[in-house]
Amino acid sequence: MSGTCYRCFKSKEACLCEYIKELDTGVKFIILIHPHEARLMRTGTGRLAHLSLKDSELIQGVNFTENERLNTLLSDPTYYPLLLYPGENAITAQSDNFKNKLEGRIPMVIILDGTWSEAKKMLKYSINLQSLPRLSFNRGYRSRFIFKKEPTPDAISTIEACYYLIKELEEIGMANGDEAYNMMALFDRMVNFQLECERKRRLLNAPERVPLSSIQEAE
Ligand SMILES: [Zn+2]
Repeated sequence: MSGTCYRCFKSKEACLCEYIKELDTGVKFIILIHPHEARLMRTGTGRLAHLSLKDSELIQGVNFTENERLNTLLSDPTYYPLLLYPGENAITAQSDNFKNKLEGRIPMVIILDGTWSEAKKMLKYSINLQSLPRLSFNRGYRSRFIFKKEPTPDAISTIEACYYLIKELEEIGMANGDEAYNMMALFDRMVNFQLECERKRRLLNAPERVPLSSIQEAE
């Protein structure tokens, strides 16, 4: 094997670095990545999202209660933290007063990067995340590809979530979504490469060395 690219964490032949465009969206993103997700070099998109977003940070862990970096950011008056997570009181970019709530602060969107059960666990252990205002999507989105490991059919990958949020915030003039499509192009490229590997493997009827079957094309 040709080894791993330690920037995008893909194999060198699947390296996406040359296609990554760093976007300055005007929104800060904090991607809290579950250690299991960090190891999923094939399907994990949290790292790709991080590399695509200029003002973003990637922090690995499960319990963030004592995480110094996160707590510093949460208490920084420059930002208005919003946890991307469903909930009764979750607001959307199109909610009344969304802009007023922010009082001129920069939206800081916190995303839990993991499967639903991993994300639930992260929230359960991280006391500092529990009281944050919650943000959800204004519209329902389906992933362009279905990740079999996701228990819900409408689960979308982290990079897709970032893209849709940027577009929704752009509609109310709170984000710059120019060239945000590049994130989706990157995602498509990643998935297509994996599907191509899967096809080749099937064609050769070779034993599966690494599980590649965790994704399938959406209907
Ligand atoms: Zn790379």
